[in-house]
Order: sequence, then C-alpha cells, then structure tokens
Amino acid sequence: MTEQLTNNPLLNPVEELVAYEQIQADHIVPAVEFLLKDAKAIIEQAITLESPTWDNFVEMTEYGTSRLWRAWNVVNHLNSVKNTDEVRSAYNTLLPQISEFSTWIGLNKDLFNQYKKLHDSAEFQGLNKTRQRIITETLKDFKLSGVELEGAAKERYAEISEQMAMSSQQFALNTLDATDNWSYTTEDESEVEGIPEQALAAANALADGKGWTFNLKMPSYLPVMQYAKSQTLRERMYRAYATIASEQGDSQYDNSQNIETILKLRTEVAQLLGFKDFATMQLEKRMADSPNQVIDFIRDLAARAKPFAEKDIAELKAFASTELDMNDLQPWDLAYVSEILRENKYAYSDEEVKQYLPEDQVMTGCFNIIEQLFNVKFEATESETWHPDAKVFALKEGNNVIGYLYTDLHARSGKQSGAWVANERTRHLHGQKLITPVVYLTCNFTPPQNGKASLLRLDDVITLFHEMGHALHALLSKVDDPSASPFSSVEWDAIELPSQFMENFCYEWPVIQKLSRHQESSESLPRELFDKIVAAKNFQTGMQTVRQLEFSLFDMLLHQQTSVLSIDDVLKQLDNVRQEVAVVIPPSWHRFPHNFSHIFAGGYSAGYYSYKWAEVLSADAYSYFEENATEDLGTLNPASGEHFKNEILAVGGSIPAAEFFQNFRGRTADATALLRHYGMTEEGLEA
Ligand SMILES: [Zn+2]
Repeated sequence: MTEQLTNNPLLNPVEELVAYEQIQADHIVPAVEFLLKDAKAIIEQAITLESPTWDNFVEMTEYGTSRLWRAWNVVNHLNSVKNTDEVRSAYNTLLPQISEFSTWIGLNKDLFNQYKKLHDSAEFQGLNKTRQRIITETLKDFKLSGVELEGAAKERYAEISEQMAMSSQQFALNTLDATDNWSYTTEDESEVEGIPEQALAAANALADGKGWTFNLKMPSYLPVMQYAKSQTLRERMYRAYATIASEQGDSQYDNSQNIETILKLRTEVAQLLGFKDFATMQLEKRMADSPNQVIDFIRDLAARAKPFAEKDIAELKAFASTELDMNDLQPWDLAYVSEILRENKYAYSDEEVKQYLPEDQVMTGCFNIIEQLFNVKFEATESETWHPDAKVFALKEGNNVIGYLYTDLHARSGKQSGAWVANERTRHLHGQKLITPVVYLTCNFTPPQNGKASLLRLDDVITLFHEMGHALHALLSKVDDPSASPFSSVEWDAIELPSQFMENFCYEWPVIQKLSRHQESSESLPRELFDKIVAAKNFQTGMQTVRQLEFSLFDMLLHQQTSVLSIDDVLKQLDNVRQEVAVVIPPSWHRFPHNFSHIFAGGYSAGYYSYKWAEVLSADAYSYFEENATEDLGTLNPASGEHFKNEILAVGGSIPAAEFFQNFRGRTADATALLRHYGMTEEGLEA
C-alpha cells in the first residue's frame, strides 16, 4: 500500500463509525480510486460464477461494494457541508469515475444474466419474499436501462437517449436564458409603490442606484406580484413570466420544438422497451399501477376540491370588489389581492412566532415526541464529526443501539443550502454481523447570535419534522438486505410518506406546547396565536390544490398519448385540462408548458402527481393517529406509533408500498383526511 492508503480513515471497515476529524482532503481520491478498483474486481469475479446463489453472488457483491459506497457517501456529504477548494477538486475528480462505474453496472449484460440465472434457479423459490423482490426489481431496472436490446434497436436506443438528453438540456438552457435576459427598469416612483423595502433596495441596486430594475427571478418577481400597487407593472411582469421561452416572448429561446421532440422520443423509447406509452413505462417502478389509476385519482380529488377552489376565488373577487373597488380581477391581480386578504384575515408575523421557538427547545421537544411515539431513545455520543455544529446521537431500542443520527443544523459558508437527509451507511445483516444504519440530517437554520439560542421560524420546525421523518425511515428499518432498504427501494411516489406524515404533528396543540418556550417569559405559544397559524395554513388551499392537479393531469395525459403531438396539440391538451379542473383560466397567450421544467428538464415526467399522491398517503396515515388519539396523549399515542413503526418504517422497501399501506391502514388510501386537514369539509364550504 502506498502512503496515502495507510492510515486513511476512508478505508476503515464499514462496521466502524467514521473518524471525521482525521479525514484530510488528500485522503479522498486515493481511497475512492482504490475502493473503485476493488469493487470492480469483486463484480468481475461475480460475473464468472458458474452457478450464482444468493450468498456467493448477491450478498458477496453487496458486501464487497459497501465500503466503496460508504466512502463515497462520506465524500459526497463533505462536499455538501464542508466544501473547500481541495474537497471540491477531489470530488470533481471522482464524480466521472463513479458515474462511469454506475453505468458499467447498470448496463452490464453479464451481470444481468447472472441475476436471470439466479431468478430461474431452484434456489429462488426458497428465498424469502424480500430477496425474491430484490431480484425481480433488479431485473426490471436492467430491462428499463435497455440492456436486453440487440442490433438496430440497441443503436436506436442509444441515439434516442442522447437526443432526449440534448433536448432536455436545451429546454433548460432556454428557460434559463429567457429568464436571465428579461428585465424592466423604471425611474417612476409611483410605479413601485407598495413593494417592500428590502425588495426595492435590491431592485435599486440592480439599477445601479438609478431607479429600479426588476427581473423574472423569484426574489424580484414575487414581491412585485404580491405587493405592487401598480396594475401596469404587475401586468408587464406577469406577461413576461407567462411567456418565458416561447414564441410569445423572446422567440430565440422558444421551446416549442424541444417540447415536440422530447414527447416524440419518449413515446419511441417506451415502445422500444415494450411499453404501450411513456407514462406506463414511468409507472413500472412506482406505487401507482397504471396511468389510468393516476388519472382517476387526480379527477376524483379535483372534483372534490373544485367547490372549495370556487369558494376561494369567489371570496377573493368579493373582497376585491367591496374593499378595493376592483371589479374585474385579472390574472395579474390575484396574488396582490390575495396578499391583502390574507393579512386582513390572519394578521400575525413570523417574528412573533419565532420568539417561542428557540432551537434547543424545538430539538428536545422533537426528540421527546419521537421517543414517546416509537419507544426509542436518542443518546448524545462523543464520536467525531466534521464541524463543531454537527452532533451524533445513538438511537437505542431498549439496550440495543439500532442506528446513528448525525445532525448539522446551521447555515455557514461552504455548506450547501436547503434541508435533506442522506445515508452514510445502510442497515445490513452480513452473516451474523449486523451493520446499523447511519444517517445525516442537514438543515440551514440561522446560527445562534451573540450567545443567544437560534430562533426558528415555524417553517423551519416543519422542515425539521419532515427531514426527521426521512431519517426515521432509514433508522427504524428492520430490513437486513441493503437493496431493499427504504432509500434504495421504496417507490418514488411513496418515499415522502413518513416525512410528510411527521409534519402533521406541528399543527397539534399538545405538540406545539412541547416545542415552544418564549425566550424571555419561558411561556409556551399562546392558544390564540396557534389558532391563527392553523387558519392561515388553510388559506386558499382549494385554489392551490386544483392548480397542482391541473399540472398533474396535463402531465399524465400528455405522456399517455402515442400519436405525434404538435405544440398546438399540447396547448389544446392543457386547455381541455383547465376547462375540467381549473378555476382560473389564464389568457390565450399564456405559455405554461414552455417553462414546465419539472417534466421537460427534470425528473417529474409522468410524475407530477406524486406530490399529491404522497400527501394523500401521509394525511391518511396520520388520520389513523387522529382516530386513535386519547384524552391525555392526543395523537402522541405509543400504540399508534408502534403500529406505524412495524407496518411502515420497519418494512422499508421489502414489500411494495401499496401492500405496506394496506397492512397499516387496513384499506387503500383515501383522500378524505387530506381534504379535512386542508379545511375542505362540508362545514368549510358553508362557512
Ligand atoms: Zn422529503
């Protein structure tokens, strides 16, 4: 071994916790390159096995490559939370090698054949359901990657993949450039009336101190739409935003052609792989069974939500007319009038709420709630971390440590923004040896200032609970085979179930009392303020719901079609969808599809429905806790927690999501709880 490979903490056994303080940037490349070579040799060896079995093939490659993936997870994490020039350069050196390795595995026909052999062997019938599922799902992944194609079909597949990637990339570039290249400057003070000070200062800086410059990026666009009194300014901005990357805007960035190409190629690739249409192919690995099931789901929810959306818009119109003397509401007036109405109905400030939510109280409260619900214990440990802010907790069930949670909560330079959860290592029973899961929970809350505890916004608390749900999914999993772990195998449209489920607790009165303590008076959040927060949460949920359903239905219907669509067909499709579900019909020059990056340049094609789908699942799961609430515990009933833990968290991806949901709820998911949580009830309609 060379010098860089001895005493290299990234090469320590997976079973040990990582010695973060010992990791130097120059450990990274040699360690990962060494482990890559090692992993490749293990797989090459596995390919030559005459008769692959679970133990000599699947388990052997799984365990043999686990050191690589753990090291790469650590590097990935450091690149996100402790980014230095050295770490970034090491990461950038390795990224192409890691992608190449993953592609080599994903398109490896010999590896595919080994899985097929195992699938067809006598051993297969004797394997437990989890292992059978791992094998069949792996075969599906291989098929979806085109590994079975031969000759001309194989060539065409490669061609399409490349063209699709190029068109999506061009779609994204067009929206980006069209957004970047539009701005509007005014020196007329009357035109900027009403816009908050902070936004005006930013606009003034953009104009080099001479007037105000506005653009189509959210921090500039939103304050104008919400607060600018000038209808002319709002209309100007609205029109520019609504026509981004279309022939109605700056036509050099027109995405029409890209949309047509992407849709045509998607249909072709799906049919090449043996599917009826692209939507059906996308659903192959999802909880939803078929495009029609999703379409029925959307239509059912839309029909139930539409009366509430109509009520929202009627309220808005009445308010505009009586209070603001605006009798003919235009699309560019909606956000503006909504903001005034919202302030009118539920005046409270984020600042006021924050005073009750010091981070230490929230964290302690959150841990207590989890401990009570799931009969576990978090214990701070002294293990090394990458930063003084980061902490490690051992999660104990009885006397057994079942996993480790790293938290890193504060924003700082060199740390990527946002909040997320990632695995460092996955639970794995290797022979008699149990490797416990290790999970990172990262947030970007405001750091403590002047020795005072950091105060969280309510949104921060909800984010924390959301991410904690993801963390619990990994930590409370009882799945022994890593390939069926929650993050590697729960269907994409069900993965947000535990996280969105946890958010619900933040709107429970007993929970908020545990989480809150005024930083001076030490009192918990007053009931009156809590009631306002809950009411504000449900403001215009009808309108928001039908809007998301409009996008979802459009996306699904578009990807279910097999005929070649022109851009006019696409716009017509959207029109029809709006007639069916929307309560706000935009002007005819509106070009929403041209900027719909989620489905044309992101991972949400035939998948936009998943936002609502997962919400229905999580709300319905939470309603089990509501039904089983007790007088003294409320929804924090350990019996409910135990049931959720056993039927949903513990099973990870060992069985299909539809099955674990059925096991938990005793029936399929129902949207009633979601509508109720949004205040969309009979009473809500009459009120
Ligand atoms: Zn999430």
